[in-house]
Amino acid sequence: MRSTVKPFKKILIINRGEIAVRAIRACRELGISVGVIYSRADVHSLPVKLADEAFFMEGESDISAYLDQQKIVDVARTHRYDAVYPGYGFLAENSSFAALCAERGIAFIGPSAAVLHSLGDKVEAKRIARKVGAPLVPGEDREVPDDKDARDSARKIGYPIVVKASGGGGGRGIRVVMKEAFLLKSVKEAQREAKLAFHNPGVYIEKFIENPRHVEFQILGDRYGNVIHLGERDCSVQRRHQKLIEEAPSTVLTEEMRQKIGAYAIAMAREVGLVGVATVEFLVDRQQNYFFIEVNPRIQVEHGVTELICGIDLVKWQIRVAQGEKLSLRQKDIVLRGHAIECRINSEDPLSEFAVSTGVIEQYLPPGGTGVRVCGGIFVGQEVSSQFDTLLLKLMVWDETRAKAIERMRRALGECIIEGVKTTLPFHRTVMDNRNFQKGDVDTDFIPKNKISLQIRKNAEKMRQPSLLNDQVESIRYREIALIAASVYKNLKREMGTAGNGGSNAWVTSARKDQM
Ligand code: ADP
Ligand code: ADP
Ligand code: MG
Repeated sequence: MRSTVKPFKKILIINRGEIAVRAIRACRELGISVGVIYSRADVHSLPVKLADEAFFMEGESDISAYLDQQKIVDVARTHRYDAVYPGYGFLAENSSFAALCAERGIAFIGPSAAVLHSLGDKVEAKRIARKVGAPLVPGEDREVPDDKDARDSARKIGYPIVVKASGGGGGRGIRVVMKEAFLLKSVKEAQREAKLAFHNPGVYIEKFIENPRHVEFQILGDRYGNVIHLGERDCSVQRRHQKLIEEAPSTVLTEEMRQKIGAYAIAMAREVGLVGVATVEFLVDRQQNYFFIEVNPRIQVEHGVTELICGIDLVKWQIRVAQGEKLSLRQKDIVLRGHAIECRINSEDPLSEFAVSTGVIEQYLPPGGTGVRVCGGIFVGQEVSSQFDTLLLKLMVWDETRAKAIERMRRALGECIIEGVKTTLPFHRTVMDNRNFQKGDVDTDFIPKNKISLQIRKNAEKMRQPSLLNDQVESIRYREIALIAASVYKNLKREMGTAGNGGSNAWVTSARKDQM
């Protein structure tokens, strides 16, 4: 097929927080004008300050602003946007929204509605995986129709099993069931949670893989049938079935496994005709068996670690293939170099089972230096509420080897200061010091197995002991640095707030609040 490229002049980012900032940066570097939508809670947010235009979305709640499909498309049409960039969460995997965009002549930067529809249904995705011959977690490729079927299926598969939401994501709608007595209760709970979160109560049952590693492949495809993979990420350190630390490459894969699993991931993308990025997720057991679990047909939170070892910009490629560009990269061009690690700095209390922490960011000092990448949208004075995702900051590092990357991460975590809300920073510091993590001995049960909470508590106690002069001196030094940083930020914020409307410089452009 001949390539027909229609460059975008304006892209509307329909997300918030770090992924909105990430996409604004990609658009800027591509010379594309960029707008964002925002709700009341995000009036002072970084994306609103950085974009050329910002559109206030009146809504019932702060979240609904990012979900109002009709209004979003209206804003895009009225203000002559060529495309919308969905990021992750919100409308990123919503096939009816992608269809609405197509109908109204706006490019949706992501796969087609049909692809989102089939891959968004995990049961359907399993059927596609089966079709291309990928190994699956043993289980049924269909939703549970009733109690009897659930009991029969679970017995056939053999306990322990997992009940999973067909429309699930973000670790929600998953229940591990150790024995039959808990089956029906777990099915009901998963259905209820799935209905609330995804408006789809459908669940299915599969075998519980004991102590697996979560290994996922990054896929990139264009509309001319070219598909490549960019290696894998290991996201085994999780809480509540959701990732906290991601790294690339995985210490568990041999080159042969990488090629084989990568080929399955590519075959699945080809099978559905995927245009854009996607991640094909697998579980790897202690015997090195691997099993497909699901596909996320969107950019993922942890895409940065792949970028760091491949040297390519995935968000720019999402935009480029959506414009109709051909992939200039072939599989043989993809060279994985060194090792990258990401820590998700969330507003959660690692000492209270990662409960959401809310408040106002009082001090913020991001780390920096060689090999450190920080992606975030937080600022001093920002209110952190419980209504959005808890992700505050993504701290990534790169170095030649995994051991060096861990050392660099320890250094970067030591520099990072966030005060005002509880964060996962103490958790990450503890994990980087953990011998098993350093040896690469991780699985999805890593946190309880290594008694990480206990270790964090011990470290916190140590910090409080008056005899540990060095620690104290260090914390005083951090406090001083943080105070300086806070005052710089406050001044910057004041300057940005008083800048004139409609300027072309991103830093001084104050948002145009189009009241809708
Ligand atoms: P990733 O899959 O990129 O590793 P997460 O699982 O943390 O990251 O999801 C990122 C964000 O997207 C979270 O806010 C999560 O709640 C949301 N999300 C993920 N999957 C879905 C889905 N199927 N429907 C709605 N929101 C989702
Ligand atoms: P989500 O869409 O919420 O990301 P996934 O299917 O990707 O759901 O599963 C999320 C996590 O839950 C996995 O990374 C893994 O830790 C755990 N999990 C899912 N399925 C299984 C399984 N069959 N056996 C063991 N753990 C599982
Ligand atoms: Mg997943």
